[in-house]
Amino acid sequence: MFDTILIANRGEIACRVIETARAMGVRSVAVFSDADRAARHVALADEAVHIGGAAPADSYLRGEAIIEAAKATGAQAIHPGYGFLSENPDFVEAVEAAGLIFIGPSAKAIRAMGLKDAAKALMEKAGVPVVPGYHGENQEPSHLAKQADVIGYPVLIKAVAGGGGKGMRLVERADDFADALDSARGEARTAFGNDAVLIEKYIQQPRHIEVQVFGDGTRAVHLFERDCSLQRRHQKVIEEAPAPGMTDEMRAAMGAAAVRASEAIGYAGAGTVEFIVDGAGGLRTDGFWFMEMNTRLQVEHPVTEAITGVDLVDWQLRVASGEGLSAVQEDLTITGHAFEARLYAEDVASGFLPATGRLAHLSFPGGVRCDTGVRAGDEISPQYDPMIAKIITHGPTRAVALRRLSDALARTEVAGTVTNLSFLGALAAHDGFARGEVDTGLIARDLTSLVHDVVPRAEDMALAALAACGLLQREAPETGFTLWSPLEWQIVLRRQDEDRILRVRSLGAGAHDVLCDGSTVAARRVGGRWQLNGRTAPPVCVTDGLVTVFTQYGISFEIVDPLDRQAAAGQDAGVIEAPMPGTVKWLAAQPGQNVKKGDRLAILEAMKMEHSLLAPRDGIVAEVLVGQGAQVEAGAALIRLEETEEAAA
Ligand code: ADP
Ligand code: ADP
Ligand code: MG
Repeated sequence: MFDTILIANRGEIACRVIETARAMGVRSVAVFSDADRAARHVALADEAVHIGGAAPADSYLRGEAIIEAAKATGAQAIHPGYGFLSENPDFVEAVEAAGLIFIGPSAKAIRAMGLKDAAKALMEKAGVPVVPGYHGENQEPSHLAKQADVIGYPVLIKAVAGGGGKGMRLVERADDFADALDSARGEARTAFGNDAVLIEKYIQQPRHIEVQVFGDGTRAVHLFERDCSLQRRHQKVIEEAPAPGMTDEMRAAMGAAAVRASEAIGYAGAGTVEFIVDGAGGLRTDGFWFMEMNTRLQVEHPVTEAITGVDLVDWQLRVASGEGLSAVQEDLTITGHAFEARLYAEDVASGFLPATGRLAHLSFPGGVRCDTGVRAGDEISPQYDPMIAKIITHGPTRAVALRRLSDALARTEVAGTVTNLSFLGALAAHDGFARGEVDTGLIARDLTSLVHDVVPRAEDMALAALAACGLLQREAPETGFTLWSPLEWQIVLRRQDEDRILRVRSLGAGAHDVLCDGSTVAARRVGGRWQLNGRTAPPVCVTDGLVTVFTQYGISFEIVDPLDRQAAAGQDAGVIEAPMPGTVKWLAAQPGQNVKKGDRLAILEAMKMEHSLLAPRDGIVAEVLVGQGAQVEAGAALIRLEETEEAAA
């Protein structure tokens, strides 16, 4: 076994690898960027090396700097985590050339699965069922259109170099094919520098079921399946294992196909073979097809660990250090059921835009696995994936594991940034999901009911007001309290641009009445706990001028300084601001340029999506305030139009 390993990653996955390394008595070296000096993974590791600037290209993607750091700290092996350099065969070769071990598959195996067309051709040869379609060399639009006709609509156009749902277009009718092809190619060119595509039959009522595999370079075993059908825009939201409705026969067929796929490329280490499954008529052994293989540890690997009892990172270190596979297929069994929910800093109501901010408060429920890379006080940086944590529950049955997930989400407390917590909670309570009726269209179909707006109750606002006034502490201020007139406070709480004025009347240290929207809420301290109108109050926290009541997945109010209330001036409709933190990918505006309302002036790239920024009105560009490639915060002014006569008047 290794004495020291370096983890070429950050965030929750770096922390997760460090924890297993420590349990195995292996020293861990972290690497970090300027933005991550005080990050959790750095604090957790035995040693840490600074490798450059905040942008991934200046740090976590700098293979040479990472290899240097490994040599300088005496690490014998490098664990790549997921994302960043994990599926980069050139990096694997560089690691090996430096006399170090890459904890993962060979460069050759990664290359074999790197492009979707070549991977499909290879899998066909290995006797693994692949999605019917065209994955040939001829990229002539007319030829591709003809192939789509042969396959039969609807079809899916996929970038061969694709990943993360990018460069993918669903086409329902032949008339739309040419436009969809152009836009898929455009996206693929910018994202991957390769605009080749393949065409697939679009599976109706698709389910995403993937198989965890583990190889030693020759032989492979599978650790059963995960169902990742709960997706939004082809990105996973909640995953589970095993798959609902799975039969022994189907499991054996999928497992055997995944093992065949792995052995065909001499796979070593942890990998995932993703299949698309036709869920229309129940699961059938002739209704699953290979989509792609991810040659790394997967984000959702904890659900597999929960049902098998295997620590996949432990296995990764053992295989990489030459110990061989820790089990044969017959040793592996499934116990119970597990779920994972991905908690992100994102603004669900405004279209799931990634968010940033300081996590003023962060607390996870006890007794549940929560993989996280952040602590209270940490920033969610615009540079990286806005994931806050993965919440994983396990139970003897699917129903119990799902109830535990609901409960864990309800007891998760985050303040300081918006999150998708209430969306996850709504999903966990979805009837169809509870019945195991999952397909990749579920979220889109029921989006409106899953994204409902939280309405604060009078009790919630009253509690927020008391917390904001500092009246909830045991030793509440009694100074100035007089017998003949109760003390009164007025406080303004803002939520979604709406101000509410609340009046607190203090009747004594443990008794206050709060006037709120015409009703009175009685707050009383009973046996050391606060009650509102006779019911126990939920937890609440006040930080940075924000008060958060932890009910309904967290309701936040801004505490408004009365002096600031008048200051709200009319916003200038001539300034184009970044709607979220991101990178300015493309800028078409020049000072002096005439623009028409709706013209595309810039493209902002945030996480895996591109957002077009349009001219809000006709006008002349007065100023361009950023350069192409700039990293911007949410709300940053990017382009200013000249004032119009009405606005100036
Ligand atoms: P997995 O297949 O392991 O579940 P995903 O399919 O969600 O992972 O993502 C594929 C890759 O994209 C992963 O390597 C992950 O690191 C990266 N990734 C996932 N989510 C984001 C995000 N929001 N922003 C940037 N990269 C991401
Ligand atoms: P990526 O590399 O972007 O992860 P995948 O090929 O794995 O691309 O596909 C991503 C998602 O798109 C799948 O999880 C599934 O939801 C959907 N999808 C892919 N292929 C098909 C298909 N042929 N029919 C229906 N849905 C599909
Ligand atoms: Mg995929």
